Amino acid sequence: MTADGDLAGLTPTKSLGDDGPIVVVGAGPVGSLLALYLARRGHRVELFESRPDLRRTDIAAGRSINLALATRGIVPLRDLGLFETVEPILVPMAGRMVHQPGEEPTLQPYGLGADDVIHSVSRTDLNAILLDAAEATGNVEIRFDLRCRAVDLEAKTLTFTGAADDDAVVTVDYGTLFGCDGANSAVAEALRNDLGGHHRNEPLDHGYKELTIPPASGGGFRIDPNALHIWPRGEFMVIALANPEGDFTVTLFLPMKGSETSFEALTSAEAVETFFDREFPEIVELIPNLADDFFDGPTGELATIGTDRWHRGDEALLVGDAAYAIVPFHGQGMNLGMESVRILDRFVGEHPDDLGLAFTRFTTDRLPDARAIAKMAIDNYVEMRAGVVDPQYLLKRELALELERRFPDKIAARYGMVMFTTMHYAEVVKRHHRQQAILDELVGEATSVDQVDLDRAAALVDRLAPLPAWT
Ligand SMILES: Cc1cc2nc3c(=O)[nH]c(=O)nc-3n(C[C@H](O)[C@H](O)[C@H](O)COP(=O)(O)OP(=O)(O)OC[C@H]3O[C@@H](n4cnc5c(N)ncnc54)[C@H](O)[C@@H]3O)c2cc1C
Repeated sequence: MTADGDLAGLTPTKSLGDDGPIVVVGAGPVGSLLALYLARRGHRVELFESRPDLRRTDIAAGRSINLALATRGIVPLRDLGLFETVEPILVPMAGRMVHQPGEEPTLQPYGLGADDVIHSVSRTDLNAILLDAAEATGNVEIRFDLRCRAVDLEAKTLTFTGAADDDAVVTVDYGTLFGCDGANSAVAEALRNDLGGHHRNEPLDHGYKELTIPPASGGGFRIDPNALHIWPRGEFMVIALANPEGDFTVTLFLPMKGSETSFEALTSAEAVETFFDREFPEIVELIPNLADDFFDGPTGELATIGTDRWHRGDEALLVGDAAYAIVPFHGQGMNLGMESVRILDRFVGEHPDDLGLAFTRFTTDRLPDARAIAKMAIDNYVEMRAGVVDPQYLLKRELALELERRFPDKIAARYGMVMFTTMHYAEVVKRHHRQQAILDELVGEATSVDQVDLDRAAALVDRLAPLPAWT
């Protein structure tokens, strides 16, 4: 067996839908997008979701949780003709607005081009658009309030119950199963027990808390909506992303335990207020009843959770967070999952009579990329909470932008390659390392870009291979 659990070639192959129902477990962004792609190919899909229909229930209890949508998520939306429907709910962000104590905020643009923007989008609203579009095909039946409790990979059956333990049990047969049920996936657990392989579960010792900056009293935004706001404080940070209604989703990232600046220490309103007064006085001005808001919501945990066996022959496949869940600091988890769906659809199209081969090629293609972005996401936490105010980081960033301006076919910042291209993540890492080596050599003892020998830069950059075409 190969590293990715490849059984293709050993078992009879089939076309999708040949041997029973196509079932997708999990109607998050990835499961609903996958159902839509499969429906577009003319397949009938049964989509199961443990939670109530988010289009009819206020799941987040008034809290609007948003995330950053970038090119890897946008390309599949365009592919499906859905981008025009999504566009009105997007808030473009052109860069990081860095808030330092006692200083005016400064904008660090994400790139050189007018299109180098990422978009804040409500997780619920985007998911709702995908569910609507999947249902509108007439090929997708969505069943809410059913949690997958057991997967029998031999009998090819799934057992579901409602939210309560004593709810009626529903048993469902499948021919092909897609596990899109998130980081704590029941399908992944079943595959793991069956296939073995390396299971990675690395909790981060930092967690998060979501808060809300409400709209200004007369309506509108209290701070600039077209930037991703960061209050970097070395070991921890706060970020804020705008919603179209005028509010901002604010996230505090902080060590879970240990020092007095940890979630463990913030157990009383007084401790929370003292902490924010000291570290984030500007935020105290923006969030009325901050301590109430703090204790209203849960403290979230973060982890990298992944496996290297994503499929069981041509019968079952993991996609999205179920296959590889990463920490959120590059704003890529959902983008990675949406891009994976697009690539899976391509392999399914290329191998219409050999689903096992399509799954194998998908896993071989995506696993190195999932590992690469998982690592970059952790690295980006350090960059966001500390790097963005480090003089050496800022000098290299300025030089990198200058080189990108001069040699646009050879140099692209890592951030831009991740967010604004569909280049393989693993390739991004390789190029980034080569570029960093050049920047290190050029910067040497320099303290500003005008001290850098740009003729030498041209010679060094010349050694790099041209940037590949993407999408
Ligand atoms: C704080 C934070 C910020 C983030 N910010 C970003 C960002 O800016 N950009 C970005 O791209 N990503 C971001 N992410 C990551 C992103 O949220 C995930 O990568 C994305 O939601 C994965 O989509 P998914 O559909 O694979 O899984 P999920 O969104 O987890 O959806 C899984 C679905 O399956 C359902 N389900 C689970 N178990 C079962 C079961 N047993 N039976 C039936 N249904 C089940 C769940 O209810 C859910 O609807 C962030 C994550 C966090 C925690």
